[in-house]
Amino acid sequence: MSPERPGPVAAVPVGTASGTYPVLVGNGLRARIPRFLGEYAPGYRYAVISDERVAELYGRSTVDACRRAGLKADLYSFPEGEASKTRDSWSRLTDSLLADGLGRDGVVVAVGGGVTGDLAGFVAATYLRGIPAVQVPTSLVAMIDASVGGKTGVDVPSGKNLVGAFHPPRVVIADPETVATLPRRERAQGLAEALKHGAVLDRPYFERLTDGAEALLAGEPDATYAAVLRSVELKARVVSEDEREEGHRQVLNFGHTLGHALEAASDYELGHGSAVAAGMVLEARLGERLGITEPGTGGFLRQALSPFGLGEVPKRAWDMDAVLRYLVSDKKVRSGRPRYVLLERLGVIHREGGWSHEVPDQDVREVLQEALHEG
Ligand code: NAD
Repeated sequence: MSPERPGPVAAVPVGTASGTYPVLVGNGLRARIPRFLGEYAPGYRYAVISDERVAELYGRSTVDACRRAGLKADLYSFPEGEASKTRDSWSRLTDSLLADGLGRDGVVVAVGGGVTGDLAGFVAATYLRGIPAVQVPTSLVAMIDASVGGKTGVDVPSGKNLVGAFHPPRVVIADPETVATLPRRERAQGLAEALKHGAVLDRPYFERLTDGAEALLAGEPDATYAAVLRSVELKARVVSEDEREEGHRQVLNFGHTLGHALEAASDYELGHGSAVAAGMVLEARLGERLGITEPGTGGFLRQALSPFGLGEVPKRAWDMDAVLRYLVSDKKVRSGRPRYVLLERLGVIHREGGWSHEVPDQDVREVLQEALHEG
């Protein structure tokens, strides 16, 4: 943090079965990482894990700052991108830590985007049967979503995030200023999840986001701070109530059932945020067809998301059967049937009969048919 302009710092508590951890949010917080490590995750040695891009931007400087503060710290990096979120990377990192003799008094510090958080978190969850982890999210996806809630894991050939563990961090240190170096299209991917938080839980927040679209896409620090903080507060409230996604946490899956199927059917060419945003519009239309969602909500969402470059199903040769196949292979499927989170209206979830619902295949097919044709 620049001493001339100390910004606000918020600490949002997240409850878990084993206690509470804070998500610290503040512009410039990265300068105080060594102090926070000492306070929240004291250890003999710190293994800072980053992808290669973030290692150069923030990982190496984190290690240097730790060493200057008298902490033992080493940097471990892996090639950037989702393709690295694998068991292979997990075993390479784990073997490196073992070869370097990191003990039970070691701490993993994940500095990076959601891929780093999930992968390094899973290394921490399994290393010597589990050592403490600290999350330092540097992408908007990671700050707004991935670093909060304790889910860690890797992708496998059968699908994304299918092997993993719940491993809550000791602390999350989110410095929205780091978003300045993130490409604009990556910011939009994170903002999709923020818009989802507003759409399911807080309509005024949704409206603040859409009003501030340009500042957020530009990574303006104060606008980014406000969005990260509100999203963290909303997600923290939900996951504190339902860590294991047995109830309330399911609302965070709005847009994800159809979104994941589109993402997978596009061979992951469609970014996760883009897929979720398109999924939100389609699932709102689905709710409208079923007489559950206020008429016009899907159209409103589509318009509201468009300044972010989100909300449309992109034109491509969609294979409808593949989309339908992915719908039933999703991990949210129960008794072989996909489930949907439905809105009553923007900011209000339909709760009758549970947080998520089965819907008739024919309605899903027709909503998809319309969108894939129009896209
Ligand atoms: P990512 O980690 O691959 O980061 C995206 C890109 O941005 C990478 O190239 C990375 O090097 C770069 N980057 C990150 N921070 C940067 C910065 N400050 N400046 C410049 N470049 C930077 O991906 P992501 O979009 O951050 O996260 C997506 C992953 O998160 C997926 O694997 C998804 O499954 C996971 N995720 C997990 C949860 C959860 O609850 N655990 C929730 C949402 C998403």
